[in-house]
Amino acid sequence: MNQVSIIGLGPMGQAMAAAYLDAGYAVTVWNRSPGKDTALVARGARRAATAAEAVAASTLSVVSLIDVDAAYTALADADLDGRVLANLSSDVPEKARAAAGWARERGASYLTGGVNVPPAGIGREGASIFISGPGEVYGQHRAALDVLGATDYRGADPGHAQLYYQLNMTMFWTAYTGWYQAVAIARANGLTAADILPYAGYTADSMRAFYEGSAPLADADDPDGTAARLAMCAASLDHVVHTAADSGVDTGILAAHAALYRRGVDAGYGADGTARLLGLLASPQA
Ligand code: NDP
Repeated sequence: MNQVSIIGLGPMGQAMAAAYLDAGYAVTVWNRSPGKDTALVARGARRAATAAEAVAASTLSVVSLIDVDAAYTALADADLDGRVLANLSSDVPEKARAAAGWARERGASYLTGGVNVPPAGIGREGASIFISGPGEVYGQHRAALDVLGATDYRGADPGHAQLYYQLNMTMFWTAYTGWYQAVAIARANGLTAADILPYAGYTADSMRAFYEGSAPLADADDPDGTAARLAMCAASLDHVVHTAADSGVDTGILAAHAALYRRGVDAGYGADGTARLLGLLASPQA
């Protein structure tokens, strides 16, 4: 029978343990605080009293904690020799690289993962997970990790899965906060989130074409401004900032966007297109 241990039972770890139970695995679970394993144990998961006991129960342990530092704490007393840790907790690439070295010194193999779906998506169609680390370790455990979502192997560098994940998060957080900014402006003007939802869907769907259109220009460092000039973008952002201000809502996030485009215009790039932003972003302002 296939075996796996889950270290950490937040919403994500619970969803992962449930997916393995669904797939017929023998699942051992551990969580720092009691009570989060009740439903899983009722379904047949084995409760480990310590993280060390959980790691000892299966060759493969899937780690789902708040961050990499939590894994050091949780696994401080565990015998990792010969074990495989797939740490699917989010963190920065450098911390993932350091953790891989930490695990190696203790005789463990280490894979880094970045999970691209919320807990409700785990084990379902469309779920995807970035994985990086030693290719042979990935090959040996790919089938087990694919239970959680289609794995997308990003190479041997243990930081790369987190790099790709953080790139996705960069796009996600700016877009998601933008949604709440729009809802705040809408609410200040007597509209609800439901009122603007159809237009949010349209905007989100349209972004793919913007990415696809700008990627070749970005990679060629080609600031072609025939479709949209920085001067036009800066003026548009000023309108957005003022709409927020006139509505009495916070303008900080929008003002930061506007300032970037305005910096480009002030530097003489007003007739250039948005690929010019890359040069501006590469020289951060104090
Ligand atoms: P939670 O913050 O809800 O759970 C975190 C887990 O970490 C809990 O089990 C908590 O234990 C444990 N923990 C925190 N600090 C320590 C510590 N010092 N020692 C031992 N255990 C510790 O997170 P989620 O379950 O939502 O997410 C887990 C990971 O998955 C995170 O890295 C997150 O970024 C990532 N992720 C989450 C998504 C989501 O939508 N939820 C989506 C994609 C990725 P305790 O119960 O005792 O507090």
